[in-house]
Amino acid sequence: MFDIVFKNARVLDGTGAPWFTADVAVKDGAIVKVGPAQGEARTVVEATGKYLSPGFIDAHSHSDLPLVQNPTADSKVMQGVTTEVIGQCGSSGAPRRLGLYKQEGADDDDGMPHWTDMASYIKVLEDQGISVNVVPLVGHGSVRRQVMGVENRAPDQNELNLMKKLVDAAMEQGAFGMSTGLIYVPGKYSNTDEVIELAKVVAKHRGYYFTHIRNEGVKLLEALQEAIDIGFAAGVPVQVSHFKVMGEANWGMVEHSIAMVEKARKDGLDITADQYPYIASSTSLGSPVPVSVWRGGKGSEILNDPVERQKILDALKARGSWDKIVVASLENEADQAFIGKSVAEIGRIQEITDEEAAFGLLHRNRGVVTIVNFAMSEDDVRMVMRQPWIMVGSDGRAYNVKTAKGQPHPRSYGTFVRVLGRYVRECGLLRLEEAVRKMTSLPAWRLGLQDRGIVREGMRADLVLFDADKVIDNATFTAPHQYPSGIECVLVNGVVVVKEGVHTGARPGVVLRHKK
Ligand SMILES: [Zn+2]
Repeated sequence: MFDIVFKNARVLDGTGAPWFTADVAVKDGAIVKVGPAQGEARTVVEATGKYLSPGFIDAHSHSDLPLVQNPTADSKVMQGVTTEVIGQCGSSGAPRRLGLYKQEGADDDDGMPHWTDMASYIKVLEDQGISVNVVPLVGHGSVRRQVMGVENRAPDQNELNLMKKLVDAAMEQGAFGMSTGLIYVPGKYSNTDEVIELAKVVAKHRGYYFTHIRNEGVKLLEALQEAIDIGFAAGVPVQVSHFKVMGEANWGMVEHSIAMVEKARKDGLDITADQYPYIASSTSLGSPVPVSVWRGGKGSEILNDPVERQKILDALKARGSWDKIVVASLENEADQAFIGKSVAEIGRIQEITDEEAAFGLLHRNRGVVTIVNFAMSEDDVRMVMRQPWIMVGSDGRAYNVKTAKGQPHPRSYGTFVRVLGRYVRECGLLRLEEAVRKMTSLPAWRLGLQDRGIVREGMRADLVLFDADKVIDNATFTAPHQYPSGIECVLVNGVVVVKEGVHTGARPGVVLRHKK
């Protein structure tokens, strides 16, 4: 007896091949039949006219901590995501609190269960159960913090060796690779050689190098060249995170960055990238000053120092224009009314300059202000999306509408459905089959997942049933906490997690381990 049979579905097998009509039967967590499914089933889903595809793999997710607090990963599974690749942009759930370096301030008690290394982090996720599968990466920034805190210098030989050991241990414990965030503290303090040395450890494990490159604006091409150099020097496959260019003056530069990737591929580097389908990015307002310094109460000291002040200002200005930078969330109660407003608007309200407004926000919120920044061009987004080596990654995190706060980027709720609804159905930019390939087999192959990402007998039963006429994102920049339409049924490891568009609460996800 089958557990579930989808009757008469239009099967998008994930390879990009044209869809075909078939029954798909599931038993014990696996796809056991693609074709006429004879025999009884506990559940029969009448799927005529609907599309059945492999579950979507979010190639770029920041759910590391959200999964601990919100294991049902609602905003992801509701859009058809069945696997999240976490530990991105240099920042992973583990390692932490190893006690190797006396951390300043940043180590507040966050009320979460205790873990230290990758193995104990994975155990926390597994003990509580999760609704999605997880592919963990180890973050270079997280490793560096353990050894050197947020010190702005190169490591000495001992420190480098210790970092290598930590990367090695994480890989041994199941990480698929290492990510860097070379614009963030402390990743930005590392030079190329440091990253190469650590990427060699990843290569030894046949892992992958994911990178938020050092610059996504005027120095985009140099930053991309660094990623390519690291790939060649360490002998490691490279994934460029959220491939784009920011800042109106730089629009169009993606033509050149795409050509660089093509050239590197011709030269033999296995390099790919991911993208989210929006013209706005989201990050912290940020500054060259580590958050721990703001948190340590030294904000006014820094702002009164003209040199430090100028450094912060230069970093903030590199983010783009003040009227395009919108506050998404902040911690100071008195500032909550500024959520959803641009820094320029806040300056007008407070009758101060834009710069003063930005400084004030950082100071009052102790360095933690997340923003949405409308700094990309729609033409660039489309040109990038068409590249065959581009996969879909949200760069978002799992939320639940009942507990979510602030006004974060809608990508956490809408990325995958937006590609299907807007860019496939409404714009005709991609064939449906190609869009689904970018969400399924392409990321599966990137990560060496041999048993997911394709609808085929013997594969794990991560499946999404959707209505291609109705699928659409409902999350907007002003009202982001909204689940999408058109995703009818989602299976993770053969268990129904979304039924008739509603989360069942089931937690059948597993943490996948990288095998050499
Ligand atoms: Zn990033």
